[in-house]
Amino acid sequence: MLATALTSESAQLTPWQACQRYIEERVPASTFDTWFRTTELVMRDDGCACVQVPNKFAADLIEANFTGLIREALAACRVNFSALVFEPVVREWAVVEQLAEQAAEVKHRQVPQAVSGKTGCFYPDYTFDTFVEGDSNAMALTAARSVAEAPGSNQFNPLIIYGGTGLGKTHLLQAIGHYAQAECTVGQVVYITSEEFTNEYTQFLHDKKASVSFYKKFMDTDLLLIDDIQFFSDKGKIQEQFYLIFNKLLQENKQIVLSSDCLPDSIQGLMAHIISRFQGGFNVDILPPNVETRMAILRKKVESEGCTLPDEAIQYIAEHTKSNVRELLGILTKYIFSASFSDTGFTLDIAKELCGGAITGKEERLTVKRIMEAVADAYGIGVNQLSAHTRKKEATLPRAVAMYLCKKWTRQTNLTIGLDFGGRNHSTVIAAVKKIEADLADDGQAELRTKVSEIEGRLRKLS
Ligand code: ADP
Ligand code: MG
Repeated sequence: MLATALTSESAQLTPWQACQRYIEERVPASTFDTWFRTTELVMRDDGCACVQVPNKFAADLIEANFTGLIREALAACRVNFSALVFEPVVREWAVVEQLAEQAAEVKHRQVPQAVSGKTGCFYPDYTFDTFVEGDSNAMALTAARSVAEAPGSNQFNPLIIYGGTGLGKTHLLQAIGHYAQAECTVGQVVYITSEEFTNEYTQFLHDKKASVSFYKKFMDTDLLLIDDIQFFSDKGKIQEQFYLIFNKLLQENKQIVLSSDCLPDSIQGLMAHIISRFQGGFNVDILPPNVETRMAILRKKVESEGCTLPDEAIQYIAEHTKSNVRELLGILTKYIFSASFSDTGFTLDIAKELCGGAITGKEERLTVKRIMEAVADAYGIGVNQLSAHTRKKEATLPRAVAMYLCKKWTRQTNLTIGLDFGGRNHSTVIAAVKKIEADLADDGQAELRTKVSEIEGRLRKLS
């Protein structure tokens, strides 16, 4: 039955693409992207099915862990074969890079997943089970759990989780929503970012029909999760709408959870009456994790990816990536990816290279981080604005300049540069680099040329 469905539906696919699809449905997305997306199948004259993989390390790993699944896929897709072998094939680095970028793009399209019949929209991985507890987040986690278990009837209403970027605020908000839905502790759940809230409200102003659904959506909510409320900064009209909904829900003992990248008191242009209502709730911060928690986060992630990494590499990455969890996991992804395409496999040297960027030659001592710092400094903005998801004018040009300089002065790929800039897509990096290149060639852009050469001058001193 399954085989029939697969073969008929997959008429447009090559036999191996059909097998890949079969496998993709049965392993975690990250495992598929790391180990299967870049593979190929070659049928030999003697009927032997030869799966081509990037290197010997990947061949051994796939053979040891996935032979059964691949045989199953070949059978389901009606590929006849006499034997199954795995063959390392060295590919041009450019091809590997392109495939990695395709894999990342597919990943971007996969999340978040809507949970059927509800208004909540959640990332499948952001649950309490995958969240690692440490000193830096214990209090926020306890409050989040209490809220998820008994929304509206606990001492944390509204709950406001604040802290720097990449420290787990979105993860916790989503985990609350997941739990409340899965355990049916509440009726209607809405998770929304402040940016989406703002867009929906703007849409409502233009389209009267949307007005009914806009208010209905929020007024009927039993658990409202709003992410990144710092985005409401200086937006008076939006704040008024938010306040209206906020008050109504609290009066009815509905649960509200908010996140912000700073203490709400310090959000610029936030109305005094909103601040005072927030002060009546429970404000809890998340701090950057210590080295033990960073190790635990890496171990948990590695386990969920189904990989085994040397402890010394995990320890090295944990000790040298301090700023936030997103960056930590970004380095881990790069490590798994780079190591699986290297003949030496998972060595400490690759971890060192990724953390320090100290490879060879003068220019290559420059890291993405150093470039971002220099650009932020030159434009007088915070480094975190370069990775923040804001289209504010003061950040977009410096961000594009920083991406351009990273591409020019480091060996990083568009994919990994995108990860460092708040997990942006590689196509965003490509577009930014092209734009700056075009502007630098434009006679009318003398100011930009001066700025870029001033930054490059500073970087030269650093390297
Ligand atoms: P924020 O919203 O604070 O900017 P996120 O919630 O998006 O940060 O977290 C960034 C990444 O780090 C996500 O992939 C998230 O799953 C992960 N993360 C953060 N804190 C933890 C933790 N304590 N345990 C496991 N993963 C974490
Ligand atoms: Mg977030």
